Amino acid sequence: TQRNVTCAAAKDAATEREMPLDRYRNIGIMAHIDAGKTTTSERILYYTGKSYKIGEVHEGTATMDWMVQEQERGITITSAATTCMWKDHRINVIDTPGHVDFTLEVERALRVLDGAVCVFDAVSGVEPQSETVWRQADKYNVPRICFVNKMDRVGADFYNTVDMVIKNLGATPAVVQIPVGSEDQFKGVVDLVAMKAIIWGGEELGAKFEVVDIPEEYKAKAAEYHDKLIELVVELDDQVLEAYFEGTMPDEATIRRLLRKGTIARKFVPMLCGTAFKNKGVQPLLDGVVSYLPSPIEIPDLQSAYGDVGVKLDLPPAAAAAADDAPFSALAFKIMTDPFVGSLTFCRVYSGKLEAGTYALNSNKGKKERIGRLMIMHANNREDIKTAYAGDIIAIGGLKDVITGETLCDEKSPIVLERMDFPDPVIKIA
Ligand code: GDP
Repeated sequence: TQRNVTCAAAKDAATEREMPLDRYRNIGIMAHIDAGKTTTSERILYYTGKSYKIGEVHEGTATMDWMVQEQERGITITSAATTCMWKDHRINVIDTPGHVDFTLEVERALRVLDGAVCVFDAVSGVEPQSETVWRQADKYNVPRICFVNKMDRVGADFYNTVDMVIKNLGATPAVVQIPVGSEDQFKGVVDLVAMKAIIWGGEELGAKFEVVDIPEEYKAKAAEYHDKLIELVVELDDQVLEAYFEGTMPDEATIRRLLRKGTIARKFVPMLCGTAFKNKGVQPLLDGVVSYLPSPIEIPDLQSAYGDVGVKLDLPPAAAAAADDAPFSALAFKIMTDPFVGSLTFCRVYSGKLEAGTYALNSNKGKKERIGRLMIMHANNREDIKTAYAGDIIAIGGLKDVITGETLCDEKSPIVLERMDFPDPVIKIA
């Protein structure tokens, strides 16, 4: 029968993870309404659905299939979480619902992600609703990068948005890209870490882009912002700072390492720009996600982060918890019904691993649940897996009695990842 088949399969389950945990990025995309969250998410899924090499995007049949499916089914935004691959990294995009509604669902989505992309509209900059999502991310200590979208629009002003991030959000921007051209002449960006320009090709969907020398007329501005960036990052490392004072500039790898460190520690927020519209592409944004946002083992101390907002989270330090031989624990953050598969419980696996066909304890209810089907959701398909590992965002099919916020864990090491009595979820904005 079905059950026996699943159990037998689980016995043969691979015990090695495919992707090292430091190559995971569990991210959310946050925005005020209309800033382009949906378009950006779609572009991310579109570009990660292709094989990709620096400076070149390959067209292939997979892409065409994907586009047809995208048009026919609107698949990209229907899932609570979508897994995609980018340059040897596994990026899990977790849907961060709602713009202004402070439901537990929003809070929970924020809980299970390790970093976020905040999307702004380059014309309107930081709007009141952006402040709201910003405060929510603050509340959960979510490291983030900013993407100033719609650079192609009339009136687009990247630098104005940078100023508003300082004035309206009280944050310290780390400008890592500046735009090349604007409005209908928007051509790409200068990457201030590599000090190279990334210029997009033609108008067709999925156009190539090229990494070229910084155009003459942008050299002065790029140098100015490059210097600002260096001044910001050298502060994070005494040795680098000392060398800097003695006249040695940090190299590209050092700048990148310190940018990452400062972003994760929430000292500053890298700011990128572009347009998710049409073909201009979000590849440099994906590079930014990989470069600057943390992997699950780089989240310093979840307990103290969540302790601050009054949520009890019984977790050992992230690195220890995430070991594959640690006891299994996962948090259910969203329940959905799929017309083909039935009920799907989306979970973030925090520690250990889980095999299909086994049992897990719902520690909130003290009830055992049989783990029938384990799945990872992609933009255009769902993948059945035998084993889920720490860091994974999975969908479990057919659970009987699990609601969001509940913990599934190893019955020999029961823990409850979150208390159910939330503090006042209303965030007061000054
Ligand atoms: P959401 O409400 O944040 O999910 O925003 P959407 O992704 O639905 O985008 C809102 C509107 O802005 C849509 O009409 C998009 O086509 C448009 N849009 C999104 N990105 C861009 C962009 O980069 N440039 C321009 N000109 N329009 C965009």
